[in-house]
Amino acid sequence: MSLIKISEILNGRLENQEISIRGWIYRKRQGKNLIFLLVRDSSGFIQCTVKKNSAGWNEAEKLTIESSLSLKGLAKPDKRAPGGFEISVDAISIIGLAEIFPITKDQSTDFLRNVRHLWLRSRKMNLIMKIRSKVLDFTRTFFKNNTFVEVSPPMFISAAVEGGSTLFDLKYFDQTLYLTQSSQLYLEILIYSLEKVYCIAPSFRAEKSRTIRHLTEYWHIEGEWPYAKMSNLMDFQESLLSYICEQTLLNCKTELEELEIDIHKLKLVKSPFPRITYTESIDILKKKGSEIKWGADLGYEEEKIIAQEFGRPLFIYDYPTAIKAFYCKTYKDKPELAMSVDMLVPRIGEISTGGAREDDKQLLIDRMNALGLNIENYSWYLDLRRYGTVPHVGFGLGLERLLTWMLDLDNVIDSIPFPRTTRRFYP
Ligand code: ATP
Ligand code: MN
Repeated sequence: MSLIKISEILNGRLENQEISIRGWIYRKRQGKNLIFLLVRDSSGFIQCTVKKNSAGWNEAEKLTIESSLSLKGLAKPDKRAPGGFEISVDAISIIGLAEIFPITKDQSTDFLRNVRHLWLRSRKMNLIMKIRSKVLDFTRTFFKNNTFVEVSPPMFISAAVEGGSTLFDLKYFDQTLYLTQSSQLYLEILIYSLEKVYCIAPSFRAEKSRTIRHLTEYWHIEGEWPYAKMSNLMDFQESLLSYICEQTLLNCKTELEELEIDIHKLKLVKSPFPRITYTESIDILKKKGSEIKWGADLGYEEEKIIAQEFGRPLFIYDYPTAIKAFYCKTYKDKPELAMSVDMLVPRIGEISTGGAREDDKQLLIDRMNALGLNIENYSWYLDLRRYGTVPHVGFGLGLERLLTWMLDLDNVIDSIPFPRTTRRFYP
């Protein structure tokens, strides 16, 4: 008798065969002569029936919600059972008898987030985590197919990437170090050796704002690409997103169905995406009644209005230099404009930022001075412009924002197993 996964029964392959499974009790209902157990494993749920006076009866009576067990029985089709199959149980062995499980029906989102270590067993979280894993696979495949090399940047860093306001500092022996806000500068180092590089790594932001799209620790998909132009960068990102959506539709059908995801939205993700300039976005906003002025950064509210207007992913490019980081390359004939591009999606707004990096040493130093940065802290970064500088572009895409959009989640919190926010860091 073989140990199998529940999904193998649900797929109809093991009809009328003696099988055994290992799992946990999801639900239990006891009648006079019959006990119904709904058992789950990583792959799904199945109804198991235990008859009075059968070998499994005594153990079945003892079982509590979330107890772990193994059982043997006959897999057979049953129209009344959820999923269309059930196991008629011959024997049960209890592995770990559970105490009274704190999660019951109809509990608040807040409570479920407080018992995340237990809530991760729910079907919803199980499905989200499976899709998350697949999306990481698709991302890696796409980079690999485009001959990018995966690299491993550090999380402890000595100088800020994205500016001081969201920087976490920490005691590092007798010095102060920081947690990285982005791996970009380290990817830039590696292009001089490996050329096209990418990483999928955590980034840390001391974000005090409580929004549906901010975590203090999130997973950042970042790529850096020598000799490419802004148009290549947009082409690449739209192909990446299209590939992820297409592969998810193909490979995660049952998960998407069970989560009741709006797959129409995913089917719409196809090249080319609309591309508008920052200036055009300001015009759109003004027409929609916004009081925003040219030069102001687009916030969540503004981004939502624009993304809503297009109803699908789009790019906004050529932002004012004044609102962009020190490393952004500017146009020679229009230094007030930076070669920076954001990708936006409906409901969430920005999911990625990318652009061309300043490759001229003196222009970079001028810009750092203008922003009051301490040049000494970045001497290794300037070395990259001293020794064989090359034009290059790169981008960073937030995995949790992407998943939150794809899976119609209310908050980025639900797209990561152990969310960290100002208030949440347990467990
Ligand atoms: P925002 O303005 O929304 O705070 P940002 O422009 O500061 O974001 P970037 O520095 O451009 O963020 O980071 C690149 C990408 O990383 C963002 O487009 C987003 O997808 C993701 N990201 C940034 N900050 C967070 C965060 N606190 N939580 C989750 N994802 C984030
Ligand atoms: Mn950004």
